[in-house]
Amino acid sequence: MRTLYSKFVITTILIMLFSTIVGFMVSNTYYHQTVKQENDRKNMEIAKGMAEFAVTQDNLDSYLKHTAASGYQLFVINSSGQEKFYGGSFRDKTLASEVKEKVLNGDVYHGMKNFPKETFVTGFFANELTNTVGVPFTYQGESYALFMRPNIELLFSEVHFVLGWMIIVMVILSIIAVLIGSRMLVNPIRKLSSATNKVVEEDFDVHLDINRKDEIGQLAGSFNEMIARLGELDKMRKSFISNVSHDIQSPLLNIQGYTRLLESNTLTKEDKDAYIQVIHDETNRMSMLTKQLLVLTTLEQKGNFRNKEMVDVTAQLKEIIQKYRWLLDEKEIAVSYSLDEVIVSGDPDMLYTVWENLLTNAIKYNCPDGSIELTIIERQSEVEIAFQDTGIGLAPAEQGQIFERFYRADDARTRTTEGTGLGLSIVKQIIDMHGGRINVRSVLDEGTAFNVILPKM
Ligand code: ADP
Repeated sequence: MRTLYSKFVITTILIMLFSTIVGFMVSNTYYHQTVKQENDRKNMEIAKGMAEFAVTQDNLDSYLKHTAASGYQLFVINSSGQEKFYGGSFRDKTLASEVKEKVLNGDVYHGMKNFPKETFVTGFFANELTNTVGVPFTYQGESYALFMRPNIELLFSEVHFVLGWMIIVMVILSIIAVLIGSRMLVNPIRKLSSATNKVVEEDFDVHLDINRKDEIGQLAGSFNEMIARLGELDKMRKSFISNVSHDIQSPLLNIQGYTRLLESNTLTKEDKDAYIQVIHDETNRMSMLTKQLLVLTTLEQKGNFRNKEMVDVTAQLKEIIQKYRWLLDEKEIAVSYSLDEVIVSGDPDMLYTVWENLLTNAIKYNCPDGSIELTIIERQSEVEIAFQDTGIGLAPAEQGQIFERFYRADDARTRTTEGTGLGLSIVKQIIDMHGGRINVRSVLDEGTAFNVILPKM
């Protein structure tokens, strides 16, 4: 597999190589266009100076030796065919005889300027006799030709070595920096990828310890947040499933048990009726549970619903009171209400579910001879609907939890009443979807008030 790391390192080194080559080509062109001529011109001047000076010397040979010692490679030839080299020796000593002839006859030789183009910038260093400048001079009546080039080896002083080393160290250091830098860049990505793999295997117990202030740090931060949220959702999902299974399992067991009992021939009529009643209650409970689960999933799918219409809340409340009149009478609970007509914008079926849940709770968790009071307060932009009962009430610790799914307060007080613990979580979800809020105020053994506040539009 080609890792991000190797790709990054290879790309960077390729870029370095490429820029070196381009840099070399540019400086090569510059060398051929400008430096070569300039170099030839300068050396030609020096050579002419040498020749001029040579003429005045008593001892030409020793003069040339001294001159060469100051950093030049010389080749001298005279018309009688005598040739001599001074200073560092040339690697290639060939030089066309026409060239020698020409210079002896008084011409100058521009070997540096005309040195072949193919040799790149390295031509500058070519230690060849053709890579020289040649000047004529006359010494004691005899024609001479002087060919010279600076002795590059001598010119390569300590400074050049220092510069050379500097370049080598720079190259090595930048390669090391690329290796380390890319590792630092790639490491957090590797951590992220292994954390993602864990999450794929449903392990949400991961936390990335990447403390950087850059984009990768931000990514790691969002990743941690996302995993924490996913973990929570996963926990909720698991507890939801276990709650649902439990709530389906227990009525089923009861139904199984009582049907088996009903098979017995020795049962009295009262026993039979009692068992049938239990089976009847348990099927009711299951039917209610599945209905509420269905409502919950529909609500989740709807998310931010759009199909709002004008809902006459007062009419809905009156309809529900009418619907439960028989239960209120049976439990001898009095309902008082003073309802002016109020319209809010929302989903009528959902809002109906809210009022129905709140009213049936107020009936279920009420005391015999208790009462329920319904009020509507209309404000400029919102409407408040309150359900106040004189029932069993809620302990302060319970009040924070009643909107959670499957939560049912103190078993000792509620186990006699039917319920799934889903009603209020449905209520809360619907009110949230309508952009409203719900508050609860309750005193244990005295009563409870639920206040729903909905925006009108
Ligand atoms: P359910 O009524 O099916 O148990 P809900 O979600 O409607 O589920 O209510 C959750 C819990 O809140 C109830 O079990 C009950 O303990 C408590 N509760 C709800 N309404 C009232 C109320 N009016 N008075 C006292 N307790 C209430």
